[in-house]
Amino acid sequence: MTEPVDAFKKLEIESKFQKLSPGGAISYVEVPNMQDNIPAVLAIMQYIYDNIMYAELNTKSDYCQVCGYDGEIQIVKDESGKLVWRCPKCGNTDESKLNVARRTCGYIGSQFWNQGRTQEIKERVLHVS
Ligand SMILES: [Zn+2]
Repeated sequence: MTEPVDAFKKLEIESKFQKLSPGGAISYVEVPNMQDNIPAVLAIMQYIYDNIMYAELNTKSDYCQVCGYDGEIQIVKDESGKLVWRCPKCGNTDESKLNVARRTCGYIGSQFWNQGRTQEIKERVLHVS
């Protein structure tokens, strides 16, 4: 289930649950490419420091080996309806020439994913826009 919520509200809500999980709990904030918005990164870090025990940003640091694009590689449907990763700059969809990293099951993965997981990644709600 997904719910549109901004980063600060999400952390505020989830911080109340951390004491129920003394063995460890982590909150994630899903963000777009933040290279050009460092003040927002710092504001979220300060909010984490002040309000919650443990939280991280899920940022995007993708790379297209064909054209050198260094931003967020997109998930699109191809002609057959299959979800594929596509460089927004040059249109490259060759996974062997794309570097994509996303958090899956707690860790950062970069080996590409099955259709179900790709769909889930595509549907993730951004908490910073
Ligand atoms: Zn490209």
